[in-house]
Amino acid sequence: MKIFTRRDFGITLGKGITATTLLGATSIACANGKKPQNKKLGVALVGLGSYSTYQLAPSLQDTEHCYLAGIVTGTKEKEKTWQEKYGIPVENTYNYENFDSIANNEAIDIVYVVLPNSMHADFSIRAAKAGKHVICEKPMAISVAECDAIIGACNKAGVKLSVGYRMQSDPYTKEVKKYVAEKTFGDVHFVSSDAGYISRGNPDQWRLNKKLSGGGALMNMGVYSIQTSIYGCGANPSSVSAQEFSTRPDYFKDTDETITAQFEFPNDAVAHMMTSHNANGNRLKSHCSNGWFELDPAHSYGPISGRTSNGNVISFPHQRQQALQMDDFAKHILMGTPNVAPGEMGKRDMIIVEAIYRFIAEGGKKQMLDLGNMGIVG
Ligand code: NAD
Repeated sequence: MKIFTRRDFGITLGKGITATTLLGATSIACANGKKPQNKKLGVALVGLGSYSTYQLAPSLQDTEHCYLAGIVTGTKEKEKTWQEKYGIPVENTYNYENFDSIANNEAIDIVYVVLPNSMHADFSIRAAKAGKHVICEKPMAISVAECDAIIGACNKAGVKLSVGYRMQSDPYTKEVKKYVAEKTFGDVHFVSSDAGYISRGNPDQWRLNKKLSGGGALMNMGVYSIQTSIYGCGANPSSVSAQEFSTRPDYFKDTDETITAQFEFPNDAVAHMMTSHNANGNRLKSHCSNGWFELDPAHSYGPISGRTSNGNVISFPHQRQQALQMDDFAKHILMGTPNVAPGEMGKRDMIIVEAIYRFIAEGGKKQMLDLGNMGIVG
């Protein structure tokens, strides 16, 4: 007898309708208006750009506890393509104008906001008001005030909120967090973290437009460096200093190109981070009292790679981080497991982002941070 795996189902059914879709549809059919305990949660992606197209939708074919149930798009032509490719019913298809009527759709449990950064708050708040759980892409918003508004709306509506920090579900990240917690290499003294890439192409892209992005490299890749600095050390920083560099002002007219920042931590560790839209960087290294550990690459979609000072290679089978991330959130909703990337984590990172921009704008006054354990998970 052949035992079918999830992947076999996907291959067998092929073209457009995958096992995930069918299993999800089965759950809905069973639901009859009521949600069975074993129901897979329906996810609606808002914004069908490159991240939704090439990462989230394919990952939703690998998830166990949620599935791609709906789409929200401002581009009419994408509707039919996505409906056919993923078996999405017309009634689960929305545009930005009729989006709020998603409140009446029981097939949608989670709204995943994958739009330019300045649109995160508006759509996350509208999703919460519609009674849907929310995943908001990183950076959570373009200001701390917007993060507060999202958190407030989700609390008021009694829905769960998570930030699209896929690295928090990655086994390599969990492993280095364990080293820090268990002091495998002693106390962490210094963390170095880089996250950047060389931006080319359309100078009018939204990432280089401050109104839409909220900022440049720091908003886009910098949040990864902030995150690795924190989990590479095991605590929130107590102060930050920073520097901004501009070598291509003709291209980066409106947003920051390269930023370096230094953190002090209450446990006496210090960290240095670099983020850039004009330099490649993808690394975490923690120097400890009895050795070191590093991830390089540290933030990409994987496979991640890691080493330690005792000669070990950190190695886990490759899994789609986004599938792990969305399943983690679904399990949090369904089973009450910890939220590995709560809204407070996104807000904390935005507090740090604002402190870095303030340091640069004010010309060098060290910014003190009073974060306590905000956003520290596991
Ligand atoms: P993208 O440019 O490929 O897609 C953006 C989508 O938003 C498109 O579908 C576009 O049509 C739509 N849109 C609506 N209004 C728009 C406007 N005024 N200007 C431009 N586009 C508009 O971007 P993306 O790479 O998919 O990024 C979307 C979000 O996902 C961002 O917040 C980004 O930071 C985040 N992201 C996260 C990761 C991750 O690893 N977690 C990776 C990539 C992107």
